[in-house]
Amino acid sequence: MFEKTIAELINDLTHKTVSSVELTEAFLHRINHSDAEYNSFITVTTEQAMQQARQADQRLARGDGESLTGIPLAHKDIFCTKGIKTTCASKMLDNFIAPYDATVIEKFNQAGAVTLGKTNMDEFAMGSSNETSFYGPVKNPWGKNHVPGGSSGGSAAAVAALLAPGATGTDTGGSIRQPAALCNLTGIKPTYGRVSRWGMIAFASSLDQGGVMTRTAEDAAILLNVMAGFDSKDSTSINQPVDDYRANLNNDLTGLRIGLPKEFFDEKLDNQMASKIQDAIKVYQQAGAEIVDIELPHSALSVPAYYVIAPAECSSNLSRYDGVRFGYRCENPIDLEDLYKRSRGEAFGAEVKRRIMIGTYALSAGYYDAYYLKAQKVRQLISNDFKAAFEKCDVIMGPTTPDTAFELGEKSQDPVTMYLSDIYTIAVNLAGLPAMSIPAGFVNDMPVGLQIIGNYFDESRLLNVAHQYQQITDWHQQTPAGIC
Ligand code: GLN
Repeated sequence: MFEKTIAELINDLTHKTVSSVELTEAFLHRINHSDAEYNSFITVTTEQAMQQARQADQRLARGDGESLTGIPLAHKDIFCTKGIKTTCASKMLDNFIAPYDATVIEKFNQAGAVTLGKTNMDEFAMGSSNETSFYGPVKNPWGKNHVPGGSSGGSAAAVAALLAPGATGTDTGGSIRQPAALCNLTGIKPTYGRVSRWGMIAFASSLDQGGVMTRTAEDAAILLNVMAGFDSKDSTSINQPVDDYRANLNNDLTGLRIGLPKEFFDEKLDNQMASKIQDAIKVYQQAGAEIVDIELPHSALSVPAYYVIAPAECSSNLSRYDGVRFGYRCENPIDLEDLYKRSRGEAFGAEVKRRIMIGTYALSAGYYDAYYLKAQKVRQLISNDFKAAFEKCDVIMGPTTPDTAFELGEKSQDPVTMYLSDIYTIAVNLAGLPAMSIPAGFVNDMPVGLQIIGNYFDESRLLNVAHQYQQITDWHQQTPAGIC
């Protein structure tokens, strides 16, 4: 049962071969039994889950269930959940019980989905390995001395270890796509503004976007159908009709123009990875797609621009954690300044502090033009590159990551090397485009992700392109050894 897709579980619930209570109990049991190996959950919401499952079964019995009614899911611990601890994997929020649900959570609740728990992540979503979490690192089910990727590493490990059939994530610079790639999952980061950020704890507001991680593109379409949409509570949410993402999955790919940026296939890409990506492209060619050579000339500037813009926005967003209103407060402060300094000093981890310091510096009066403004100009050039590329092609393909999952501890002492693991994903966030990662094979038994980037609001096409590949290949059906 655990290896079933969400689409299959929906079918089972509809035909009453299983109830939501049975399904939820089984997943909770599995989590309690084996998550100690992965550390993918920060909080398991057993009681709430069982209550939601009972309500879902009543809805299904009455015949007023929706697509997701009764389906258990896991949520990244960055989404506020009413009455449930929401930590963002930081000591700062270790005691924070959210007073409201994020819009994303509210939508899943209204649809009747069941929340199994809140997943581990990099602290405030800053990281590419899930090693910056206050609750300890997450282990990759494909190799337990390897990282699952980050920052949505707990969601990725939970789905890969079959502890949940799907999970939410957020992607500021690659945090859905990179862990999806490293854990053999399908992950989608929608267009900026497609999914509400209300109640999603802010890291870098102009880049953050919620999305999902599942085992198939069809499942991602099912979840996105519930998650996407305009939200008046998020001023950057875009008021544009939502496609039915499931409706277009079977469109034929004949004539699809796939752009291959030469910058994604240079020496930074491991050779074996490159050959897996080329194999995937061949599958598309055989399915009738055409290859177009394109250029994204400013790609190399994406990581430097991101590491000015994201820290700048994070330094501003995280100023709210002052020890006064919510979150951690140091003991016995001698005055207000001491309260601020020690509360923040004691509760933020090293990576978060590094980003706050870089961001504060980049925004300071004397340096604003030299760093922040310059980075924003580079960001525009990067967006223009994509705009020009999409005149020539319908989707862009390449690797999601330069390498497969690295070992725990391998890059944690060297922030710049860590930052470079997002070299192929970050430009997409700077431009605000939608993109996916789908399983495309293995190198030394570790998963390889194919990245598919689409034009604005072209999620439907991305999911169609991914789904068609999954009709021909079975990489996405592979599960880690010893897991069943
Ligand atoms: N790894 C990138 C960072 O550390 C992206 C993280 C993310 O997408 N949340 O900022």
